[in-house]
Amino acid sequence: MTAWLSVPVLGECQFLENEGGATMADRCSASAGLRVGWGAAVAVLLFAWPAASAAEPTLVIQGISLFDSTSGAMKPNRTVVVRGEKIEAVGTPEQPAAVPAGAVVLDGKGKFAIPGLIDAHVHLVHRLNYAHMTGDEVLPLFLANGVTSVRDTGDEVVAQTLVARHADAHPAQCPRVFRASGLIDASPPIHRDIGIAVTDPAQVPGLVEDMAGWGVTTLKIYAGTGSPVGRRVIEEGHRRGLVVTGHLSAYAAQDAVADGIDCLEHIWSVFDFSIPPDVKKQPDHRATLDLDNPQCRALVALLARRKVPVDPTLTVFRNMLLLSDLEEVHRHPDVERMPERLRQSWHKYRQGQGLAPSTRDRRRQEFQKYKDLTGLLHRAGVPLLAGTDAPEPYCPPGFALHQELELLVESGLSPAAALQAATINTARALKQADALGSIAPGKLADLVILAADPTADIRNTRKIEHVIRGGRVCDPQALLREVPKH
Ligand SMILES: [Zn+2]
Repeated sequence: MTAWLSVPVLGECQFLENEGGATMADRCSASAGLRVGWGAAVAVLLFAWPAASAAEPTLVIQGISLFDSTSGAMKPNRTVVVRGEKIEAVGTPEQPAAVPAGAVVLDGKGKFAIPGLIDAHVHLVHRLNYAHMTGDEVLPLFLANGVTSVRDTGDEVVAQTLVARHADAHPAQCPRVFRASGLIDASPPIHRDIGIAVTDPAQVPGLVEDMAGWGVTTLKIYAGTGSPVGRRVIEEGHRRGLVVTGHLSAYAAQDAVADGIDCLEHIWSVFDFSIPPDVKKQPDHRATLDLDNPQCRALVALLARRKVPVDPTLTVFRNMLLLSDLEEVHRHPDVERMPERLRQSWHKYRQGQGLAPSTRDRRRQEFQKYKDLTGLLHRAGVPLLAGTDAPEPYCPPGFALHQELELLVESGLSPAAALQAATINTARALKQADALGSIAPGKLADLVILAADPTADIRNTRKIEHVIRGGRVCDPQALLREVPKH
């Protein structure tokens, strides 16, 4: 018997309409279930969890402000009822939710709940290889940062499956992991550790059958793949209900969208196909491109019409590809939180990169163009996703998603729109919106409890008090202590 299950049942509290200035929480305090502090909830609920099969723990958070990711509004004074791993009810002042008998009741006054964040672009094998690390070692970094799900976007499938199994077996330390195929590429593949050379469309059905057998949810088309193979990947993937996404270079975005691709990775997959042929001949054209050119306008309109989500991954362009020589990037406080092996491998990458200070202004201008195009896509109605490419150099797992949210806001999204990119938009892109992406009855109870309003200032997503993953209340500081220092 656990401490949680041994408490006396104090009776139900039926919420009535708010009267006489008393809050719902005040009204309930005399008669609700077990009212505990947040710190106690971590211990109590985790302790109770093994008995879940006998009686699922019920958790009630009262009087909290809740971010509705569907509408983009922060809604005050909500009650969230969590039973087991799912959200059972969300009460409003007009339609209060009942507090189940024996529930653990937490006070949400002055706090803000957002849906668990989803990093739309990570790798749990690639790049860690070079640091002699394995994906399980970095998974707590995501959860500690409120990232309750990650979408892998291409990895070696066997190693990736082992990491995902570790995550499933350790839900109090790890995010949910959605897996992808290796990078479907030309021969030789650009990344030899995680690339798969496919030179003939006839090879595609067997490959897709194999990947589906491994249980991946996403197929990833990579830069070297041209339209004949790419088109076949989309056809075969859709036949098996898989999401097909692409980091495009040889396969034009216009063609891939016409062929039905589900998603585009990196702002390059839009930017590179927005450059008129005559402009491509000009030096430094990437830093000076006129985004109002007809080719760019037509592609943005096509993406908006077809509602193809774009995952700009601005963090990796700033931190790894363009501006890793800036101290504000490579000596960022988030980097200091990383295991030594990872930091050393990143520094080694930077030292070999050889970025010349004389090109810095041009590189800054180029990055600004990527942010401008991101804002343009958003204003046109293209759904955006928040992905980071962690753990590529200087994209620290978990922390990088907060950087990406800040970059999306710098690109012209409201904080609420940036939060939608990191929650409901990615849940939809994963075809998981019935279970993830918003705080609503019937969905998995993945929430982040913040001390300040992220719709007022997106940097408040870092003010994490607790992370709830499938109904388990987790302490972010304790999770950070689980990550190896070396
Ligand atoms: Zn990537």
